Amino acid sequence: MIRSLRAQLSLSVLVIVLFTVVVVSILANIFVNRQFETYITEQETARTENIAADLGAQYDESAGGWDTQYLHAVGMYSLYDGYILKIYDNLGGMVWDAENHDMTLCSRIMVDITARMGKSNPDGGFSAHQYDLTKNGRTVGSVSIHYYGPYFYTEDDFYFLSTLNAVLLSIGVVASVLALCFGWLFARRISRPIAKTADIAHQIAQGNYGIRFEGRPKTRELNELAAAVNQLAGALGEQELLRKRLTTDVAHELRTPLTAISSHLEMMAEGLWEATPERLQSCLDEITRLGKLVSDLEQLEKVEDGNLKLDKAPVDLLELARFAGDHMKGQIESKGISFSAEGEPAIVNADKDRITQVFTNLLSNAIKYTRENGNIRIVVEDTPAGGRARVEDDGIGIPDHEQHLIFERFYRTDQSRNRKTGGAGIGLTIVKSIISAHGGTIQVENGDPCGSRFVFLLPKSG
Ligand code: ADP
Repeated sequence: MIRSLRAQLSLSVLVIVLFTVVVVSILANIFVNRQFETYITEQETARTENIAADLGAQYDESAGGWDTQYLHAVGMYSLYDGYILKIYDNLGGMVWDAENHDMTLCSRIMVDITARMGKSNPDGGFSAHQYDLTKNGRTVGSVSIHYYGPYFYTEDDFYFLSTLNAVLLSIGVVASVLALCFGWLFARRISRPIAKTADIAHQIAQGNYGIRFEGRPKTRELNELAAAVNQLAGALGEQELLRKRLTTDVAHELRTPLTAISSHLEMMAEGLWEATPERLQSCLDEITRLGKLVSDLEQLEKVEDGNLKLDKAPVDLLELARFAGDHMKGQIESKGISFSAEGEPAIVNADKDRITQVFTNLLSNAIKYTRENGNIRIVVEDTPAGGRARVEDDGIGIPDHEQHLIFERFYRTDQSRNRKTGGAGIGLTIVKSIISAHGGTIQVENGDPCGSRFVFLLPKSG
């Protein structure tokens, strides 16, 4: 059966408190009863000794006898308390006997006490205890005290014990009620934010990414849960936005070459245009562009995945820069560009292939946007913050107002659009994603005196 968290918590608190109360009550009861028994037993022994001492003290040595009236008073008083006395003189002669005096009262008292103690002390019973009566150190007689042993309770004692039990029971009831109230409040405090979070998660699942957990729960774990759900909603919302934007952008990028190709082919098919090698080449160029776009998109999809797996190992940025330069040698030389990769070795913990891709993309841009016989330079520095690389060219440069936009997907500066350099505006987005995945940063500056300079920094332990 699935129960609500609130019900389970309330029930748990109640069970714990009930269990504690019951255990404490039972232990307290056993302990109090035992102590009380010992106390009463001691009291009875003391009482009988007192009776004997008192009786002995009443012996009148000069008269050689007792004040029978006093003996009678002590005897009756003791009888009402459950002590049945028989007083003897030195020669064994009976001086005062409670049973002789009032047999019916004695029997009634014995029956009463036996009935009362039957349940709480069933092993006990009436027995006689003999004491010498002394006066000034001389034995003057004896007394036989008949009482229920080893102990017996008076009505008051029973009342005391039952009151104590009632108090323990009341404490139990009050504690249980309080436990129920506090448990319910406590459970409410915990379950409310959880229920709210579950509700928000439901709404997120239904596509409501704008929803957020308002307020801060006071429990640390719940607070973290709420923050995680908010983060999840934010991330999903962002993903959704990116997905939508990507679809629009891709559609837009595909439309231009497709329109060009289809209009060219249409004209040729209808015989309005002759299928010259130049026209066919132009169609082929557009198709190549489409192919490049598709492979760029594949790359982008890989690096923009939040779980991009980096195969990290210590690598030297200078070495990778030189490697990328060698790789692009053909393109560099075909444009008569002078290229150099210089600086100092900078070891960083990074994915070799991905960082090579960064250099390749930056270099390919630099080649694309640099005039013939221009200059491209990569400078590597080992700084306390990490390995820093600058890719500089003296090409067409990037206007200041567009510098913050060029890392966006599909963004191309107006100049590069005009020149028909062919890129789809994805290369730098890939570069930025790779650098970010390594915990690094990248920015673009104006070159000196012209061109552009891309500077990226990779932390050593990334
Ligand atoms: P593309 O494939 O169009 O080159 P990128 O994302 O690599 O896409 O670059 C985006 C835009 O940034 C380019 O279209 C171009 O306008 C500009 N850009 C990139 N690198 C340079 C550079 N070295 N010099 C001038 N402009 C550049």
